[in-house]
Amino acid sequence: MPYEAFTEQNVVVKDASKVEVLFGFCYPSTYRAGMSGLAIHLFYAILNARSDTSCERYFRYDTRSPVNSVETGRPLRDNHVVGFSLTYEEDILGLVQMLEMGGVEILANERTDEDPIVVVGGPVVSANPEPYVDFVDAFVIGEGDLAIHNIIDAVSHSNMRGEVLEEISTVAGIYVPAYSTGTISRLIMPNLDEVFHPTTQVLANTETRSHLEQVFGRVLLVEVSRGCGHSCKFCLVGHICRPRRVRSEAKLRQIIEEGVKLTGVNKIALIASSLGDHDNLEDIVGWIVDNGWGLSTPSLRADKVTQNILHLLKKGGQRTLTIAPETGSERLRKAVGKGLNEQAIYDAVQFAKKAGLQSVKAYFIIGLPDETDADVVAIARMTKRLAKESGLRITTNVNPYIPKAQTRWEREPQPPLPILRKKIKVLVKSMRNIPNASLEVLDPRRARIQAALSLGDQSIGQVIRLAASYGGLGGWRRAEKETGISFFRLANDKERLRGTLPWHFIS
Ligand code: SF4
Repeated sequence: MPYEAFTEQNVVVKDASKVEVLFGFCYPSTYRAGMSGLAIHLFYAILNARSDTSCERYFRYDTRSPVNSVETGRPLRDNHVVGFSLTYEEDILGLVQMLEMGGVEILANERTDEDPIVVVGGPVVSANPEPYVDFVDAFVIGEGDLAIHNIIDAVSHSNMRGEVLEEISTVAGIYVPAYSTGTISRLIMPNLDEVFHPTTQVLANTETRSHLEQVFGRVLLVEVSRGCGHSCKFCLVGHICRPRRVRSEAKLRQIIEEGVKLTGVNKIALIASSLGDHDNLEDIVGWIVDNGWGLSTPSLRADKVTQNILHLLKKGGQRTLTIAPETGSERLRKAVGKGLNEQAIYDAVQFAKKAGLQSVKAYFIIGLPDETDADVVAIARMTKRLAKESGLRITTNVNPYIPKAQTRWEREPQPPLPILRKKIKVLVKSMRNIPNASLEVLDPRRARIQAALSLGDQSIGQVIRLAASYGGLGGWRRAEKETGISFFRLANDKERLRGTLPWHFIS
């Protein structure tokens, strides 16, 4: 499909002949999704701040990439390092496709000194890199803010891939399948106030509501915290980004003032897994709104929502309150470790109504361990009560349970597909005819693929490779059939999860 030409601000273009290291930062999905996350802005700024490095961006969809960079059209293959951030398991298909389209040898063990070094980071591989080892030279396990410099330094010392990979395999938090031995420790930046935050963020000059516009519009992305002080048994962030760390109010103000000046935007999107836990949230939000800037926040813990915060969010232009009750029943909510009282959910929605918000989005999970049909029906009951008591439009978003490596439920498989389908049927039936409410459910076939990848091991590389060449949901089925490797079963095989887990070497 032809791509739409567009311009961007704050783009960095360097003369490739005057730097030592060419880095291609790749996002294996759409431009919009990639540019709405902080990772691309962070590493783009860190890498281009180095006088010896030029970082340019590549996307799977929407731009002239993956073959040529957005900035100058640099061919992907011409980079010394090609880096990916993997946020969603299924994006591995985009990663493999980008390598192939960009002329980079797909298999790590067949790459030569002429091929770029392929480095992958992000939450998916930090939890379990094993399914992806066929395609990746080095993984960054955890937060790569500083480790990225070790990689660039190694590449600038040598153009022999073996030497570079051997050198970086000795860096804490970097896993090089061909060289690493022993335990790999997750990288965590201890003090966020000392961690670089990008303020010259790249923005597309596009029409409002264009498919290229960032999810939150023309905003400055501001990372308030990393990790979460809670530890719900299913939640990846609650486990692999521990401990929770926050930026101080003073630091956040400094980032926002500088960022607004450098980008010219008048809206701030706060990023945090548990934003409501910030001690000074009301002050920060109040200060943003008093400055006349718009505001966008992620989902808030219902028991941290106050009337005042919602008034401020409304003033900042927010129309929807997003919460994550996770389950409809109090019993199951306790079992998952959410520690969220049912009344707090109803209170939060009442606050939203009083503040003048228009709608509520509520996230739930079905297929959790020990869940009964009554728990599933309780999601509909809660939706009905929320809609009735508040008069607000309620969107109930339901995802099938996807077990994640490194969480307390890493040995709790996903229910088989027919059971998930039955639960969805029960849910759809009980949600019928609830006024002012709608239901969104993730296709259970996609949830099964995500679970299989999340719990997978090195045996599934061939399945991934074939699925990438076929594309789509059907591609996975075809790939399983043709390779004879049991892929889907990984999602539900409890027996296999009793033994040593594939990701046991990550601490
Ligand atoms: S689900 Fe939310 S509250 Fe629970 S651990 Fe994850 S981020 Fe924290």
